[in-house]
Amino acid sequence: MREKLGNPKNTIEVIQKYQFAFQKKFGQNFLIDPHVLDKIIGAAGVTKEDMVLEIGPGIGTMTQYLAEAAREVVAVEIDNNLIPILKETLAEYDNVTVINEDILKVDIKKLTEEHNGGRPIKVVANLPYYITTPIIMGLFESNVPIDNITVMVQKEVADRMQVGPGSKDYGALSLAVQYYAEPYIVANVPPNCFIPRPNVGSAVIRLTRHKEMPVQVADPKLMFRLIRASFNQRRKTLQNGLNNAPDVSFTKEQIMAAIESLGVPATIRGEALDLQQFAQLANYFTENCK
Ligand code: SAM
Repeated sequence: MREKLGNPKNTIEVIQKYQFAFQKKFGQNFLIDPHVLDKIIGAAGVTKEDMVLEIGPGIGTMTQYLAEAAREVVAVEIDNNLIPILKETLAEYDNVTVINEDILKVDIKKLTEEHNGGRPIKVVANLPYYITTPIIMGLFESNVPIDNITVMVQKEVADRMQVGPGSKDYGALSLAVQYYAEPYIVANVPPNCFIPRPNVGSAVIRLTRHKEMPVQVADPKLMFRLIRASFNQRRKTLQNGLNNAPDVSFTKEQIMAAIESLGVPATIRGEALDLQQFAQLANYFTENCK
């Protein structure tokens, strides 16, 4: 087997050979630490049964690790300049398909049907940080069958995904992620594990999709509208936040009654509610405010 990527020497060699120019707009920071790579694959629990979707393979560093651990890897890369490089670095793996496309435009559900018979896939990636939230929310909201998503993200974003009420990092992203999945921070990763070095800290987070939803909500879209309205005006009371939100159309009286039904003070702020309470609030509106 040719020497694996994942150590700085081999990565620099490939980059020089192809005179590859890093593109900031694509969030290109390539991993050069084999320990971190092993940790990611281990945390995702990739086995020879699995189909893995990799988002943004770069020069194929993590793809090589995934190809050895998984049954099949589908890697989606937006940057045309990386495609010839991937052809070379992944030449000896016959279980990898590279798709040259913007991940936000790919029909992942269809991909899962074609490559995994609709069974749950694993998503593993060192994500381009500029589109972390749309990628993760897109995966959850499009009902792609998923076992877990194990990804490198900005440290601050990983923190936001796993906190609850009472933390300054708690927000709409925390609630959205926790509605769909159980978050677990696998490792913090310093800038010197990448080339070029990002100017923020990073963390690997695993989001294990709930087998059963943690709360029962009749209208999840309504719940997320309420959540967004509450956090858009963080310093306001929940009541004012909901009254002023353009996409929440209940009357002042209905809003007051809904908050009262939670058994919390009328002056409570939205940031004090947990997922269960937001679900209760949404269900109150669905049942009583037709
Ligand atoms: N996986 C590689 C590694 O760990 O060394 C590269 C990770 S780098 C942080 C992010 C990768 O995502 C880059 O290869 C970048 O070109 C790619 N990318 C950026 N935006 C993308 C998009 N919208 N769709 C698919 N890939 C994208």
